[in-house]
Amino acid sequence: MKVLVINCGSSSLKYQLIDSESEEVLAKGLCERIGISGSMISHQSTGKDKITKEIDMPDHVVAVQLVLDSLTDKEYGVLQDLKEIDAVGHRIVHGGERFSEATLIDDDVIKAIEECNDLAPLHNPANLTGIRSIRQIMPEVPMAAVFDTAFHQTMPKKAYLYGIPYEYYEKYKVRRYGFHGTSHSYVSKRTAEILGKDYKDLKIIVCHLGNGASISAVKNGKCVDTSMGLTPLEGLIMGTRSGDLDPAILNFLCQKEDMTIGEMLNVLNKKSGVLGLSGISSDFRDLGSEASKGNERAITTLEAYYYRVAKYIGAYTAALNGVDAIAFTAGVGENNADGRKAVCEYLGYLGIEIDPDKNSIRGEETVISTPSSGVKVLVVPTNEELAIARETAALVK
Ligand code: ADP
Repeated sequence: MKVLVINCGSSSLKYQLIDSESEEVLAKGLCERIGISGSMISHQSTGKDKITKEIDMPDHVVAVQLVLDSLTDKEYGVLQDLKEIDAVGHRIVHGGERFSEATLIDDDVIKAIEECNDLAPLHNPANLTGIRSIRQIMPEVPMAAVFDTAFHQTMPKKAYLYGIPYEYYEKYKVRRYGFHGTSHSYVSKRTAEILGKDYKDLKIIVCHLGNGASISAVKNGKCVDTSMGLTPLEGLIMGTRSGDLDPAILNFLCQKEDMTIGEMLNVLNKKSGVLGLSGISSDFRDLGSEASKGNERAITTLEAYYYRVAKYIGAYTAALNGVDAIAFTAGVGENNADGRKAVCEYLGYLGIEIDPDKNSIRGEETVISTPSSGVKVLVVPTNEELAIARETAALVK
């Protein structure tokens, strides 16, 4: 079965066409900087040259059309016809209370996902655009939704409850859900495999550092805590999201700036994080280049970002009562050697030592700690697409 997996992020669209029997990737690609200047698509059909085009992508509809055009392109595509695609699997960020596992998509499911838009304002609308665009072009193809919230359902109550009146949990299910679950699940399992250890015997901290960013603590194969909350706004400083802050800031700033809570939440989701702090960009490549030129705000922004990551690792080391392995993944975690170094410099107390040569890699499965390091530190490129293809094929069969 040929499964097209669509992962519409806030500023990126990753896709893979996967043969679900052989698990071979037939083609893959990435649309980057969607909605930002300098957007580009890179596409590679297996066995053919990779092509990269700088092309304007104002929104995800345009990006999806470019993906389908690339897959069927006579020269660098891999399909004669879009009908060869047997199923499409979509990564969906928030499934609310309704979805505790993956599901086939119909009108009712689309409506239910739409109802969760408030909870993931950066991602669910982008996810839905992916679903609608595919439906418009290929109305017959079965589609599955794979939710980011599922892996974190094993969190104990002490980890997912907020310190607010319990009735809000009972009445409205206000609690920590966590996101990037497909990634945390895949990366923690791969970490055990790479180390040749039993997944059920390990304490692993996964740092998923992309445009959205979250950390999870995984004990004996189960998630016990994660940094994102009711929505993806909580936790780390992210590309454009604030992460943790004093909730009283919301009212304080609304009064000072004469804004509604909705408007201020938009600021916290879309104009904060490293973008808001630096005033430069949400992209770490731009920040890194400004920092290397001595731009003080870029330097401070990166310091604040890595400091927050290191604090969460400390907290989760306590939650796990020790840690065997720390895995870095997603755009920043996989590619940014300076960032991994900066985070690990805080972790000397755990006996962590990084091998600079190994740390210089980009996007490859690598143990970057020295053999004598007190904790194994790894780069493990996430593979949400494969995990989604597996779930989609299982549902469609
Ligand atoms: P999302 O899926 O949440 O949009 P990604 O996991 O694709 O995020 O990560 C995107 C981020 O990864 C970009 O904003 C960029 O900051 C960072 N990134 C990608 N490549 C590099 C690189 N070579 N060096 C540093 N950062 C990078």
